[in-house]
Amino acid sequence: MNGLATHRAARIFFRGVVCAACFSFAGLAWSATPDDCHALRKHGHRPEAQKCYESLTTARDAFTRAEGFWGLEQYEEANNQFRQASGESPQNAMIRVRWGRLMHERFNNTEADNLFGEALQRDPKNAQAYYGLALVSADGFDSKAIEYTKKAIELDPKLYEAHELMAGLQLEDNDVTKAFDEADQALKISPEALDAMAIHAAIELLADRSPDAWLEKIRQINPVYGEGYALVADQLVLNRRYVDGIAYYRKAIEASPKLWSARAQLGINLMRLGQEEEPRQQLEMCYANGYRNEETVNSLRLLDSYKNFVTLKEGDTILKLNKKEADLLRPYFDEEMKRIIATYNKKYKMTLPGPVQVEVYPDHEDFAVRTMGMPGLGALGVTFGLVIAMDSPSGRPPGEFLWASTLWHEMSHVYILTATNFRVPRWFTEGLAVHEETEASPEWGDRITPDILVAIREKKLLPVAEMDRGFVRPEYPNQVIVSYYQAGRICDYIKERWGADKLLDMVHSFAAHKTTPDVIRDNLGMAPEDFDKQFMEWLDKDVGKTVANFDEWRTKLKDLAAKAKSKDYDAVLKEGDEVRSLYPDYIYPANPYEFMADADIAKGDKAAAAAILTTYEKIGGHNPPALKQLASLEQDLGKPAEAAATLDRLNYIFPTDEDLHHRLGDLWFAQNNFPGAIREYNAVIAMGPLDKASAQFNAARAYFAAGQKDKAEDHVLASLEVAPDFRPAQKLLLQLKDSNEGK
Ligand SMILES: [Zn+2]
Repeated sequence: MNGLATHRAARIFFRGVVCAACFSFAGLAWSATPDDCHALRKHGHRPEAQKCYESLTTARDAFTRAEGFWGLEQYEEANNQFRQASGESPQNAMIRVRWGRLMHERFNNTEADNLFGEALQRDPKNAQAYYGLALVSADGFDSKAIEYTKKAIELDPKLYEAHELMAGLQLEDNDVTKAFDEADQALKISPEALDAMAIHAAIELLADRSPDAWLEKIRQINPVYGEGYALVADQLVLNRRYVDGIAYYRKAIEASPKLWSARAQLGINLMRLGQEEEPRQQLEMCYANGYRNEETVNSLRLLDSYKNFVTLKEGDTILKLNKKEADLLRPYFDEEMKRIIATYNKKYKMTLPGPVQVEVYPDHEDFAVRTMGMPGLGALGVTFGLVIAMDSPSGRPPGEFLWASTLWHEMSHVYILTATNFRVPRWFTEGLAVHEETEASPEWGDRITPDILVAIREKKLLPVAEMDRGFVRPEYPNQVIVSYYQAGRICDYIKERWGADKLLDMVHSFAAHKTTPDVIRDNLGMAPEDFDKQFMEWLDKDVGKTVANFDEWRTKLKDLAAKAKSKDYDAVLKEGDEVRSLYPDYIYPANPYEFMADADIAKGDKAAAAAILTTYEKIGGHNPPALKQLASLEQDLGKPAEAAATLDRLNYIFPTDEDLHHRLGDLWFAQNNFPGAIREYNAVIAMGPLDKASAQFNAARAYFAAGQKDKAEDHVLASLEVAPDFRPAQKLLLQLKDSNEGK
């Protein structure tokens, strides 16, 4: 809202509220301006505002009519009028600014962006146009939002809305002091800066103080200003305080039932907590009333897709799996969840207040809906209190991620968010979760990538006190990934130097509301700046060499790849070790390990190929074809136990592989690991194999060997049902009968 009529001299008593705009409107010969109507709305006089906007629709100029239709929520007509107005006054920047604002409000940020840009072509010093650009950027947590807002303030220091926006952005970045100052600046310019009051209320709430004084101030100016509550709710949700956020979205729609944006967010956040019925009602209501932004539409679509999922309860876990892969994935997820819960209960010295729901999405788009409107990557998994949503291993190219590693990561969040009652900075909970991945298995977790090496070389790591920025509002591509890495290494460092319990002490300090600098000072006994210095020294010892080698490595790897391509195996083997030692953690596509293994195999040296691939495996290499090849080599070299262990690793990477389960089942059966063989043969059955008779027979013989005769009989009969003449199954059935009689 802009240009409020608050400085008028004449004021009358209107419905118990002193309102200059209302006075003007009461005047008979009055012809309203858009600013008058906005002011009426701002003060919560809805029927009067409605009348006011209606009066604008008959104005003589199209620009005014556009504002009238917009105020009446007749968006298409408003759009038409803006188009006409800009045709009539092609040089008028403000028409384009306001038109852009309409577009922004109606979910068309691309068009909004264009219009603000066009406005700036006409009037390069238009503060409102920069403010519009800032709003668009803020939607996507783009670091440009701050830049544009600064520009708007610079061009028009009295633009209090820009200060309000800046306050919100700073609070998103967890910079409370700056947020507080900006909100005050806005209030100095306009004592009726409602959003600035809402930011103040959010600051109080985030610090567990009462927001009531600020909320009361808002109510006095506009008793139906739902936007204020919604703004508070947005900040709570961003700080992962979903339950509190939901309570504020409820207040928002109670004050203003037609505030669809808040109603949609209520639905979306209820979904995040695992609910279905109420979210559907709320979102359908938004949709029916024309509020159809991407988040609303996609969330409704996701709710529809839930019919394709099954909900499976086991112990403290509720698994929500897609029907088409539930049988396959369930045993692996159940087993891993048990292991995780037992480990974390001990490690974090606590138990969870209820069961954890894990939702696994084979369609990445469905999962992406869960993270819409959230900053950062959220690429593989996301945690909402006791609910985890994650990609299914089948939803990504084989080997792109380690689902089990992701599950340990997300489960760490579940514990830490619970332990701190959601009062933990993003950097710390992410860092700890990354740290836990490699604690669970040294082969898990991401390895240092070329992007991270470059960021370290260019000294782009953030001071510990400012780490949150790197997650919420990245300033360069991949800063989020770099921040995950850095936060993880900070936790590695703390554990190494002070012990694991120190990390837990820090969790408790964050729960007690201490800031990052205070936690560093109190728990580690040093200033944050000293911590940064010592951490960097420690990190340099670990990866400094690799950082320094980076350019040389890149050139030599290119060369090695060319030699591998031209099948110059001797050269690959001669130079491979050096390239590898320049950057040992490089296990990503086109790595020296796989080049060298291929060369060894081509030259017939299976032992050497197995050795290099074992090194690759141990350092965290997880490309499924390479690991399967290693398993074959191990088998050929007469090491069936190693071969089985290698294949079993793939269950935590890409279990959607019939051949894997078949081979592992056979290996374990031969090694008398019957429970393992049963699990693997059942996985083959779950994948719907072409040769159903053999699959059922294999499960039957594993059950038989394990002494589970009933199960063995079920499967042998299932086998014979498909292939009545299948001799091995017939024989096993006879054996089963004999053994029963012999009992
Ligand atoms: Zn995380």
